[in-house]
Amino acid sequence: MSRPVVEVTGLTVRYAGATALDGVDLAVGEGELVALIGANGAGKSTLVKALSGLLRPHAGTITVRGRLAQVPEGREMFGDLTVDDNLRLGGWRNPEGRRGRDTSPIYELLPELSDLRRRRAGSLSGGQQQMVAIGRALMARPDILVVDELSLGLAPLVVTTLVGHLRTLNTERGLAVLLIEQNARLALDMCERAYVLETGRIALHGAAKDLARDPQVTAAYLGGH
Ligand code: ATP
Repeated sequence: MSRPVVEVTGLTVRYAGATALDGVDLAVGEGELVALIGANGAGKSTLVKALSGLLRPHAGTITVRGRLAQVPEGREMFGDLTVDDNLRLGGWRNPEGRRGRDTSPIYELLPELSDLRRRRAGSLSGGQQQMVAIGRALMARPDILVVDELSLGLAPLVVTTLVGHLRTLNTERGLAVLLIEQNARLALDMCERAYVLETGRIALHGAAKDLARDPQVTAAYLGGH
């Protein structure tokens, strides 16, 4: 693995009475595509919240070298604002100040958004909104994008387009991606390495192509095929 952009060690998060994450170790290297898969309730959302600083861990460390931006589950658009305004809001933390709020580079990276720039975000399809959410995250000029449930509720063809964009951003811009997905097949197809989270613990990790052949993973996450 290249130098880690994100490194998580011994991460433990407890809610009142329940341990949601229990000693999680995970790292994403510069320019890497990494998946975290897990069933409902495995602790994926808790990990995302801890990575974004919304939850204080009980134990363990999270080290981020560079900038991390998140594509949140459910997209979280400002539905009454235009696509362009939604993108601009993603630039508020950009270190380049006013220049950092220039949205034109995003339309070059995600050309499908060009024709939609004056549309109200709330009027867009789920796939279009997901693309806006990716664009908004890119406005922060991140070194790593944490994408929470990319495929949720979207048609396969739409997901293929979004995955294509993430791959291009990875190969051409060196953007690292941590893809947090319930759709294990998609995640293992797209990523080089993967972690399997089970009831708050990393049960398995390794090369995605090896995990895709692992009988335990196949039975539990790939519908036994
Ligand atoms: P999903 O895909 O359904 O969002 P997940 O993998 O993201 O699942 P988490 O939401 O992180 O899982 O939940 C992990 C565990 O922590 C679950 O057992 C859940 O019931 C519990 N949990 C989550 N949030 C809270 C909370 N605010 N208070 C108490 N327990 C919680």
